[in-house]
Amino acid sequence: MLIDENHQVLLWNNWMTRAADIPAETAVGCRLDDLFGAAMPTRLAQAVDDAIRLGMSSVLSSSLNKRLLPLFKRVPGTDRRDAIKQVFIVKPIVSDAGRHCLMQISDTTNAELRERALRQQANELLLQKELLTTLINAMQDVVCFKDGECRWLVANQFFLDLFGLSEVDYAGHTAEELAEYSQVDVSAATFSQETDEQAWQEGRPIAYEHVIPLSDGNVKVFDVCKTPLFNPDGSRKGLVVVGRDITERKTAAARIQHLAHHDSLTDLPNRILFQERLRAALAQARRGNGMLALILLDLDKFKETNDTLGHHVGDLLLRAVARRLQHCVRETDTVARLGGDEFAVLLTNLTSADGASTVAEGILRSISEPFSLDENEVMASASLGITIFPDDGEAFETLLKNADLALYRSKSDGRARYHFYVAAMDEEVQQRKSIEQDLRHALGTDQLSLYYQPLIDLRSGEITGAEALIRWHHPLKGSIPPAAFIPIAERSELIFRLGRWVLHRACMQIQAWKAAGLPPLRVSINLSPAQFRHPDLLDTIKSVIAQTGADPRLLQVEITETIAMSNFGYSVDVLRALHDLGLAIAIDDFGTGYSSLNYLKHFPVDTLKIDRSFVADLGRYPENSAIVKAIINLGHGIGAKVNVEGVETSEQLRFMNEHQCDECQGFYFSRPLPADEYARLIGQAAPWTLTSTD
Ligand code: C2E
Ligand code: MG
Ligand code: MG
Repeated sequence: MLIDENHQVLLWNNWMTRAADIPAETAVGCRLDDLFGAAMPTRLAQAVDDAIRLGMSSVLSSSLNKRLLPLFKRVPGTDRRDAIKQVFIVKPIVSDAGRHCLMQISDTTNAELRERALRQQANELLLQKELLTTLINAMQDVVCFKDGECRWLVANQFFLDLFGLSEVDYAGHTAEELAEYSQVDVSAATFSQETDEQAWQEGRPIAYEHVIPLSDGNVKVFDVCKTPLFNPDGSRKGLVVVGRDITERKTAAARIQHLAHHDSLTDLPNRILFQERLRAALAQARRGNGMLALILLDLDKFKETNDTLGHHVGDLLLRAVARRLQHCVRETDTVARLGGDEFAVLLTNLTSADGASTVAEGILRSISEPFSLDENEVMASASLGITIFPDDGEAFETLLKNADLALYRSKSDGRARYHFYVAAMDEEVQQRKSIEQDLRHALGTDQLSLYYQPLIDLRSGEITGAEALIRWHHPLKGSIPPAAFIPIAERSELIFRLGRWVLHRACMQIQAWKAAGLPPLRVSINLSPAQFRHPDLLDTIKSVIAQTGADPRLLQVEITETIAMSNFGYSVDVLRALHDLGLAIAIDDFGTGYSSLNYLKHFPVDTLKIDRSFVADLGRYPENSAIVKAIINLGHGIGAKVNVEGVETSEQLRFMNEHQCDECQGFYFSRPLPADEYARLIGQAAPWTLTSTD
């Protein structure tokens, strides 16, 4: 506005109209006093006066006089009174027209607000930066910001501590430049510029694991993520590196992995890892036309060591065997424990199968050396089965199966030896399988029957009973001897069904003969090892006896001495219980096992049956007669009757007679007979003449 020397308004612009809400028509011609009244600040009035009278310029701020503010409160852009800021510039204008004063009122509200906002923003930024610094320093992760040229901008305390850079002014330097200050390789620490490059090139965050060697010789594993940052024009702006220490997780995972793949007793690879290694070795051998050998190994009679010396010594033996096996092979070969007393050895890079036999011989030798275990000197031996890739098979499963067959052969050949797989073994297995299948069908049909071989009392020449022997008449294969199918049945649950059938059939027969008026003669039945060891044996026998009503005193069970001795405590209990039921007990095939007299005297034995082999070779091996005599004395010594099986000739009979054998059975008297023929024989047979001189 322009004011004349009388303080009268000469000019009033639009801005003033809006600001003071006074139209120009009203304002022009009015005196300032009239327009603003008491609201007119004295200093402003003074300034106008000074301009007109003295030609002085003044600049006044509205804050000096709050009373003016209401007049200008409608300054565009704000309603807030305290936010309204004006600057009054009062200038003199001297012209021909006289002395005037120009008063400019500038609104500075917006400018001030902006300035304040900027200041606030700056403060907030500072605070944010402080928070951010605290935050990244509190993190137990590696954090680093780099610029577009891999120079460090900010790194957190964890990072600096880890690499010994706390005292180093790192900003603006690359990892390579910082390397000389660090105790560890900083180029490794920044997780290499190569990956920086990769992140930029891929234009997206990349993640990978990084192993950092530490000065103490340990390593740390980091899970690293690099995020590239770009300017709007696409140029490289920087990079954020974040690395999480996953060493513990890795160690735990490695431990779990180790546990899952190793046997806890011996720390050898377990079956799972062995299979993995075998698969990998096979794949490699296939690519390189290589040869490899798979050896399966089973300790002989390990159960006995366990039973006699205890599980603790058994465990020590397994560990010691594991160590010896490892010494028998090269480092590149694998020794594994597949379970129990079963080990496997994988030999790679073989040039010939001879290499495998050399190793196998070494293993047998090594295991045959005595083991000192907890003050026990333990002798052990092992049976081995070897199969060769590619000669014996290509597939993983085939090789395992073949090695197992070869091992089985070593076991059945008398143990403590090795066998290479030969195709014929496969055939044998097929045969075994088909017998097992056919036997399953045969059970419950008339393909199976019991034959009875008379037992003769050597003093009276009378038949005292019979041994029941199973017979199988196969519709296609004809007669199959028990030795060909009992061991196969033994390998599955079939033996229990078969055993129960024999028992039931024998009891029924006892009842049938009783009904037919035959004298009460004893029937002896054979119990197989698995049957004898089965916890249900007693119950089965009791239930069959109850079912059939047979007199238990007419039953005798035969078990071989090896079964009786293999678990002494259990055998004593079971045999006593059977004896208490009224059954007689016979020890079959006596002389072939390793009976200890000490043990034998604890069994309630009624009969010792001398094995047929001693009788057959009486003439050929003079020592056999000594053995037979000894067994007869032994039997009598423990109060048992002595039976001899397989008497075929009168010489054999005479020998037995001379040495006070009690009972005989053999083809000399009779072959095993069907039930009705046996009954007929009892009806007719006068006592055998046992003292023939022919
Ligand atoms: P074992 O219990 O020792 O039975 C005696 C075997 O000697 C029978 O063979 C019998 O036929 C045979 N034998 C008897 N006298 C003579 C002889 O003078 N000369 C010759 N060369 N052999 C004679 P078998 O019936 O072939 O039985 C063989 C084995 O099979 C039996 O030996 C027994 O261990 C087993 N076995 C037979 N039947 C059963 C059964 O029902 N259950 C079980 N678990 N095993 C059975
Ligand atoms: Mg027998
Ligand atoms: Mg026998």
